[in-house]
Amino acid sequence: MEEKRKPERLIVASNNRNKLKEFDAILGHLYEIVSMRDAGVDADIEEDGTTFEENALIKANYVMNATGCAAIADDSGLEVDALGGAPGVYSARYCGRHGDDEANNDLLLTNLRDVPAPRTARYVAAIALVRPGKAPIVRRGTCDGEILFERRGQGGFGYDPLFQCETGETFAEVSMETKNAISHRKRGIMAVLAARGEET
Ligand code: IMP
Repeated sequence: MEEKRKPERLIVASNNRNKLKEFDAILGHLYEIVSMRDAGVDADIEEDGTTFEENALIKANYVMNATGCAAIADDSGLEVDALGGAPGVYSARYCGRHGDDEANNDLLLTNLRDVPAPRTARYVAAIALVRPGKAPIVRRGTCDGEILFERRGQGGFGYDPLFQCETGETFAEVSMETKNAISHRKRGIMAVLAARGEET
């Protein structure tokens, strides 16, 4: 009897449960998705690149070098046109502290207080796939929307309650299925998969 091949392990260079769920929903049929912690990597990787792409590669390479396994990382953030693309690569620490979503959203509302609607913006995600002995693949996905004047919805994370997407809902109001269908991460991951498929 033919033995079923085990799917290849792919370590996600993140311990963020929301991101892990998104990666698993999009790639779980192709890879065994493993978090950094479950792969035994306990590190606070310094993201000192100046672009989303550089930071995604820094994280993915760190995890591949620590484990010897294929790794995938995203570096993502919000670009607001009226703020010249801020908070950009500093999205997670816009208010000065890392990962304080409430304070980040408050600061965003303050900085946009004199800007009329529509306050156009986009989420950006650079996705880096690195595999031992193969060239890295880095691609970008974006999702357009606008920043509201007050929070709406209970789901999501980060800037989601203020980010109205193409459905007219905020990312904190949409279902997981909708977010996974249109998100910047989904689009970046699909671009990486397409590039992987084009390899000879
Ligand atoms: P990273 O973990 O270094 O990529 O930081 C990404 C930051 O950008 C997060 O902490 C959020 O503030 C923001 N961000 C990126 N993607 C999303 C999203 O899908 N929803 C909400 N906020 C996001």
